Amino acid sequence: MLSRERIETNLERVRQRIAAAAARAGRDPGAVRLVAVTKTVGLDEIRVLQDAGVAEFGENRVEQARMKIPALERAAVWHMIGPVQRRKCAEVAGLFDQVDAVDRPEVAEALDKRCADRPEPMPVLVEVNVSGEASKHGFAPDELPDALERLAALKNIRVKGLMTMAPFVDDPESVRPVFAALRRLAVAHGLPELSMGMTNDFEIAVEEGATQVRIGSALFC
Ligand SMILES: *Cc1c(COP(=O)(O)O)cnc(C)c1O
Repeated sequence: MLSRERIETNLERVRQRIAAAAARAGRDPGAVRLVAVTKTVGLDEIRVLQDAGVAEFGENRVEQARMKIPALERAAVWHMIGPVQRRKCAEVAGLFDQVDAVDRPEVAEALDKRCADRPEPMPVLVEVNVSGEASKHGFAPDELPDALERLAALKNIRVKGLMTMAPFVDDPESVRPVFAALRRLAVAHGLPELSMGMTNDFEIAVEEGATQVRIGSALFC
């Protein structure tokens, strides 16, 4: 495992970079939540982050989540950040507190069925393939109005915002238009949450309005 000091230093640096990016855009740094992506680490690293005040975590695979989430002593807000398979919706509903990457109506409908027992509807984000890359999941921007209408009819999930994965590029500045486009879509649909930005590009995402950044590598390097 990485040493506690190492993780704490990385975290401090990430927090500073988020705050500086927010300040550059005239935003309140408190309006940007860090979702620590723990897919490459184990329980000890997660506990170090919890000790340092990190409250939200992300996993992209049910197999990993099922080993980690129930084993932790302390509660946290767990985001499912990867694509959800329909047959895994029951388990996703049982393990996670938010589903960040709803990328097909069929997944939303299957998840809705499995969330019927929750006291509150499951918060979800709708993934948008802004860049149009064939390898990326998510709705095309022009499919979004119909998709949101369809999802609004589902009573056990509630759409809080949009999520995107920007193309991986050497110069993160070049993905700024992707983040700006996602923000415009969210504003147009009255959605408050924007999950965008990873290790490679989170400062640009914060400048463009991210309310949640999903960061793994920068914390565990
Ligand atoms: C792994 C992952 C991240 C974190 O990526 P880093 O580059 O390690 O910060 C964010 N979002 C999703 C969907 C991921 O799978």
